[in-house]
Amino acid sequence: MRVTFLGSSAALADPDRAQSAVLITLDSGRKYLFDCGEGATRQMMRANVNPAEVGTVFLTHLHLDHIIGLPYHILMGWIFSRPDAPEVYGPKGTADFVKHSFEGGAYDVDIRARGAYPMRQKNIEAVRPKVSEKGAGVWYDDGELKVTAFPVNHIPEEICECYGFRIEAEGKVVAITSDTAPCPNIAVLGKDADLLIHECTFPQSFIDYRASTGVGTFNHTTPTQVGEVAAECGAKALVATHFGHFDTVSPAMKQAAGAHMPVDLCGPHLLDEVADDIRKTYSGPLYLAHDLMRIDL
Ligand SMILES: [Zn+2]
Ligand SMILES: [Zn+2]
Repeated sequence: MRVTFLGSSAALADPDRAQSAVLITLDSGRKYLFDCGEGATRQMMRANVNPAEVGTVFLTHLHLDHIIGLPYHILMGWIFSRPDAPEVYGPKGTADFVKHSFEGGAYDVDIRARGAYPMRQKNIEAVRPKVSEKGAGVWYDDGELKVTAFPVNHIPEEICECYGFRIEAEGKVVAITSDTAPCPNIAVLGKDADLLIHECTFPQSFIDYRASTGVGTFNHTTPTQVGEVAAECGAKALVATHFGHFDTVSPAMKQAAGAHMPVDLCGPHLLDEVADDIRKTYSGPLYLAHDLMRIDL
């Protein structure tokens, strides 16, 4: 299988990274998308993937950086002649989000306008996604790929449930933590994973800064903790991703994000700090995600 990191950033508009989205392509050609942040569909095009062929989508949680690209992805699949309805699996709230996006919702005018043409009317089902809201447990199993979801510790659960995934296919295990602070379920979903994809939003220095300035800090995992968790899981390889823009060199980002982070400290050198912290405990193969990074398993 092929694991493609379409996006590798957190929630801000980052000129150098798209937002969370991981595409798994099996040897059979079947494609599965995990989260759909801003830029995901355009990144598919860059990765030589037709968005109309990506019709099975799993959402870990409903933070914007994991879902804002979904309406665009669905609409583009329609325009690229996807023949049938996509399937969207997500936590409670996913049905509402989807319902308000398409016919009778945010893109109603566009759908009515384009849908007036017979060619677009022919595959109108492509903008009528089948949504399945799920809790903990097996979300999906088509005989080729199985997804089991585990609650993780991120947003207060009464606002939004958040899930990490253990994905099994072709005799391999890929684990995606989603956004989370360390919690016992990570060791379960990531146990002996061939590839553990772990969030790693901020270096320690940024976490300290955000705590001191009162900027919202939903639960995340420090690089040191990422290393500890990967070692505990026995992960055969580790990807750190969901980087919170700390490596930016963009003057616009530094100007815009001054209230969110210590912009004077930002720069690619912090990726070295991240790797050093992970390496305190984890000695296996380590990748720091960048957009369009591809790992074959
Ligand atoms: Zn996120
Ligand atoms: Zn989040």
